[in-house]
Amino acid sequence: MPELPEVETVRRGMANAITGRTIKAVDIRREGLRTPFPKDMAERLSGRKVKKCLRRAKYILVEFDRGPAMSLHLGMSGRISLIAPKQAYEPAKHDHLIMMFDNGLRLVFNDPRRFGMVFLVESEVRDTHKAFANLGPEPLENDFTGPVLAAALKGRKTNIKAALLDQRVVAGLGNIYICEALYHARIDPRREAGTITGRQASDLVRAIKKVLNEALEAGGSTLRDYRQADGELGYFQHRFAVYGREGKPCPDCKCDVSTNCSIQRITQAGRSTFFCPCRQK
Ligand SMILES: [Zn+2]
Repeated sequence: MPELPEVETVRRGMANAITGRTIKAVDIRREGLRTPFPKDMAERLSGRKVKKCLRRAKYILVEFDRGPAMSLHLGMSGRISLIAPKQAYEPAKHDHLIMMFDNGLRLVFNDPRRFGMVFLVESEVRDTHKAFANLGPEPLENDFTGPVLAAALKGRKTNIKAALLDQRVVAGLGNIYICEALYHARIDPRREAGTITGRQASDLVRAIKKVLNEALEAGGSTLRDYRQADGELGYFQHRFAVYGREGKPCPDCKCDVSTNCSIQRITQAGRSTFFCPCRQK
């Protein structure tokens, strides 16, 4: 499932390619994904010029010279590909939405599992739209600080892993980067969320920003290649410290696997959590 760094990488790739371009046509090849596509979407978007591509949590927002913005969510398996002008293209299976631009570029939204979403939203009402109304701060923005996080966690009896998955606490974080951030902050994922205060909250915020920024750097290198054969944006190889590494020693500590000190996998709220019980307290 794409997480924030993947979505941000897709957004940057889209912004490079389509800002200032005008949509010539939109080919909608099914009625919708997780939700129906907006009524008359093709007519409403045709002729619009792209002003900006933004991101809020895991939503990509394409703003136009007039009319509502298009909001795109990749869901579980959504992928965006850019097909260069003059490059041969036949719609493949699961290519559900194809946007054609004035320079011949195509943007293709492919989603085999169809948990993705596309909807239109007027900018004046965006912050009150149900997708955006209850979102917490953006983790990479300067206003996401230790004190802000500590205030959001105050009194919460759930474990810190579950609290960070709650989009009202912080927007856009998912399973993988939460495991990684808790590891770098040396916080046990089973800790009661409300006990993370003061310096630990600041350490956790720093760790969240670190793991997201490192992933973005890894993703950035894929952007230059968007003209390659498949033109797909946003997926990249990235090394994780604990995620998916059950039974292995963690990279930074002197874990001794023979003394049961190694990366453990537990299930929290139905999702796998990976952590080092020796390092994370
Ligand atoms: Zn360890």
